Amino acid sequence: MNTSAPSPLAWLAYCRPGFESDLAEEIFQRFHCSAVEIVENSGFVIAPGARLKTLGETAVATLTFARQLVLISPQSVVLTSNDRVNPILAALTDFLALTGQQSVTDCWVEYPDTNDGKALSRAAKAIGPRLLEALAAENKIVGHAKYRAHVFLTPDKKAWVGLADMNLSAPDYLGIPRIRMPHDAPSRSTLKLAEAFQQFLADADSLALQPDMRAVDLGAAPGGWTWQLISRGIRVIAVDNADLKGDLVDNAMVKHMRHDGFKYQPNVPVDWMVCDMVESPSRIANLVAKWLTQGWARYVIFNLKLPMKKRAGEVLRCEAIISEACLEAGLPLTLQLKQLYHDREEVTGFATIPTKRSQFAHNRYATKVTNAKSSAATPISAEKPKRLTHGLISRHGSAGAGAEAQKVGRTKGAALGRTPSLNASSTTSRGTSPWSAKPAPKIATKQKSKPKSSSASALATARRAKSKSKSN
Ligand code: SAM
Repeated sequence: MNTSAPSPLAWLAYCRPGFESDLAEEIFQRFHCSAVEIVENSGFVIAPGARLKTLGETAVATLTFARQLVLISPQSVVLTSNDRVNPILAALTDFLALTGQQSVTDCWVEYPDTNDGKALSRAAKAIGPRLLEALAAENKIVGHAKYRAHVFLTPDKKAWVGLADMNLSAPDYLGIPRIRMPHDAPSRSTLKLAEAFQQFLADADSLALQPDMRAVDLGAAPGGWTWQLISRGIRVIAVDNADLKGDLVDNAMVKHMRHDGFKYQPNVPVDWMVCDMVESPSRIANLVAKWLTQGWARYVIFNLKLPMKKRAGEVLRCEAIISEACLEAGLPLTLQLKQLYHDREEVTGFATIPTKRSQFAHNRYATKVTNAKSSAATPISAEKPKRLTHGLISRHGSAGAGAEAQKVGRTKGAALGRTPSLNASSTTSRGTSPWSAKPAPKIATKQKSKPKSSSASALATARRAKSKSKSN
């Protein structure tokens, strides 16, 4: 692929409808674009002036408000005739030639997450298999290809064609993870934490989410987040003046404490602190900073309820509060903020102090991790926290090798750099722990089915659909 010459390309990013200007602001700052086109409530943003080489360097995880990121031809296909497949196929073929690609893993035909957009779902289902079949006939569908082809239909009868990096893009169709609502969870908020685990942890079932870990849930009632934790075998102190609901009330895995979440302090350090209190974002950011710098929790997931205006700016402000507190304490921080599909006027954050000996691969589709070996004595600067290309924010770290993720197994239970040991099994002060000794019933975890993105399954779907659908 020729990556040196400037290419007349553009970024297409999908978002929650209503957050186009926040996403545009992020893209504008992140990519230094000359202009970002937005249509309010359209569910997407187009930013011209992208270069081909940035495709392999830019993870969707770097953008808080983006659900998906696709490098597109800035020339859309206008769908005027009855034949929608052939003009799109021609544009796609041209784009592959322009970007020097022989093949792609798959071809997804998508649309915005709006009412008008969803009306295009039938067209997408009809066009997708026919495009796949045509690409496969030309040997352009290959399982190990680097990129996935995307076709984005818009309500104004246009189609945008482009490519997304398999490692750096969202692995879900439409950029929306499908998570089933557990029937016995006490609130729909439970889906937010389930999605956060998927989003921020490389493997939600290992290492960071081990049975017998301990967690504090601040603002826990009615208990959706607590439910997610105990369903993974993690014991929870649920802090809230309000009542928990359902099976959580008498659950031996849960200790309910009617306390102010801002004043609560754990007797012993815990593995997880999660926080869903409805409060000003900066107050929550300061609380997160306190828990990290005091070494009270190893991993933190928190929700920031955003103001009506200047939401992207508020996110940056909260990032700065947390990163500057850790910097002052000499702690290397890994921090990521994302508007999840299940977030409304809010974003969810994940923060941890990586161990000295190894790193943790936090993002399921970011291939790199922070490098905690770099100096923790970096002076505080007035500049904004630097965003690294793999989506993690660090003042200390630079991008490390993806292979570092392999080391996570060896760090299980290791003490955090300068903080007390948080290994649940080696926590020393069990005597002061508020945990009940009663055996605890387990709630079954429901796993999301893996996205079908291999070319084999894509083609099988295409063939099935082809026999059903003759229209385009
Ligand atoms: N995560 C919960 C779930 O999944 O069911 C929902 C939490 S709800 C959005 C916010 C909760 O924060 C409320 O139950 C409220 O009582 C609690 N809350 C607000 N301020 C609090 C404080 N200062 N201390 C403790 N809880 C607080």
